[in-house]
Amino acid sequence: MKKKGLLIVISGPSGAGKGTICKEWLKRHPEAVLSVSATTRPPRPMEIEGVNYFFKSREEFKKMIENNDFLEYAKVYDNYYGTPRKYVQQKLLEGRDVILEIDIQGALKVKDRFDEGVFIFIVPPTMEELRRRIVKRGTENPDIILQRFKSAFEEINFIKRYNYVVVNDTIEESVCKMEAIILAEKCRVDRNTHLIMQLQGEI
Ligand code: 5GP
Repeated sequence: MKKKGLLIVISGPSGAGKGTICKEWLKRHPEAVLSVSATTRPPRPMEIEGVNYFFKSREEFKKMIENNDFLEYAKVYDNYYGTPRKYVQQKLLEGRDVILEIDIQGALKVKDRFDEGVFIFIVPPTMEELRRRIVKRGTENPDIILQRFKSAFEEINFIKRYNYVVVNDTIEESVCKMEAIILAEKCRVDRNTHLIMQLQGEI
C-alpha cells in the first residue's frame, strides 16, 4: 500500500513571512505540492490566476461552498478563502506532501478533521518587526495595514492549538526548522506502523 503524504498546515500573522518560507521550502522539496486556494479577494499586482489563488466572484465562491468543494473555508478580513478538497485529498493519496498556507480559523477546522496533519505557526521575532514588514510590503492601504497588525495580536493567542512554532528571524533558518520538523514527523512510530509490521513479519 502506498504511504499517504503528509498534510502540512502553515499559519501565522500577515507579514510573519509564511509565504516566503513555504516557497523556499517547496523549492527544496519539489516532490511536495502547495494547495492553491480559491478567494474572493481581488488579485494584487503580480499575482497570477491558478498560481497564487483561483480568483472567484462571491457568487462563484458560494456555489463552490454549496457543492462541498472545500476542505475548509473562512472569511478572512473582508474576503472568503477556501482550500480545494479534491486536489488535497488526491495528492495525499498519491503519497505527496501537501502544504496549506491558511488562516487560523481554517487551520483549526482542518485540525478537527485531520488530526494527523502537522500544524506549524510562524511568528516574527518581535511585533515591531512584524509592523515594519507589513508596511514594507506596501501592497495594502493604511487601514488594512492597521487591521492586519491588530489581528496579529489576537491570532498569536491561538498558537497553543498548533504543534510547532517557528520564529522567523531569517528565511534560511526558518526553512531549516521546517525541514527538521517534517523529517521528525515522518520518523514518528505511529506514522510507520506498516514498516514496523513488515519488519516483524521478517523475524
Ligand atoms: P492574503 O490576502 O494576504 O493572500 O491572505 C490573507 C490570509 O488568508 C492569510 O492568513 C492566508 O494564509 C489566508 N488564506 C489563504 N488561503 C486560505 C484558505 O484557503 N483558507 C483559509 N482559511 N485561509 C486562507
